[in-house]
Amino acid sequence: MRPVVDRDSSEWWERVARGEFVLQRCDSCATVRFPARAYCHRCRTRGWHWEPIAPVGRVESWIVSHQPFLAGTTEPYVVVRVRLDEAPECVMYGNWRAQGPPADGMAVRARLTEVDEELSLVDWCPLG
Ligand SMILES: [Zn+2]
Repeated sequence: MRPVVDRDSSEWWERVARGEFVLQRCDSCATVRFPARAYCHRCRTRGWHWEPIAPVGRVESWIVSHQPFLAGTTEPYVVVRVRLDEAPECVMYGNWRAQGPPADGMAVRARLTEVDEELSLVDWCPLG
């Protein structure tokens, strides 16, 4: 199975496949958002730009999934919810790539995992 790539997120997926970690920042209220969308969820305006954001944050919560949602996973697998250090208004999620389990509050960094030529995933692993 592969992630659903839609009109709003297709460029984000292309950038991730090229090894870029960027997010949308609203031109009006400066909110950083994920996943990529045409409108700002905070101020409802359309203007935005891609911005490189440090791919580090803290685990806010995590689950063990027994459902195969994405390529490159073998059930059961762990999905983490991460609040970014540089953009604390932005929460991301992704697969956990480490031997041990995550913990709430753990410092983590993104790791881009290449699935194939056209698809890479933003996974998370312990910082350091
Ligand atoms: Zn906004």
